[in-house]
Amino acid sequence: MLTPSLEDYLEEIYRFSLSLDTVRVTDISNRLNVALPSVTKALYKLRDESYIKYERYGVIMLTDKGKEIGYYLVARNQLLQEFLALICSKCDFAAEAEAMEHYLSTATIDAIKNMVDFMKVNPFWQQAFHDFIESKASRKS
Ligand code: MN
Repeated sequence: MLTPSLEDYLEEIYRFSLSLDTVRVTDISNRLNVALPSVTKALYKLRDESYIKYERYGVIMLTDKGKEIGYYLVARNQLLQEFLALICSKCDFAAEAEAMEHYLSTATIDAIKNMVDFMKVNPFWQQAFHDFIESKASRKS
């Protein structure tokens, strides 16, 4: 089981791996704004649990397990941002998804995915919900 912090590392490594041939410790350090020694420590933990292959000064390679979980973590973050947009939250989607993602059970993530998928194939319901929210807001003002 990964800690929230290690989940974030793996999530960012996976995100980088989609656009970069080689992911380096400095990429992660810059993106997460964390000092190199802390990043290195986290990478060793991910390596010890077989999510990545990493040697000092080396590049970071995702294992099959790392790719699978990394894909899930990125998709989960994306899903939560879509969900927040769908329910018309006026929050900062990225920051809010970041706050939510590590603390919801997979049962709730699955349920949210069902709702987002349902709304995508039923634009009428989505529109009805938006109209409802707007009418509430206009009654208030
Ligand atoms: Mn996170």
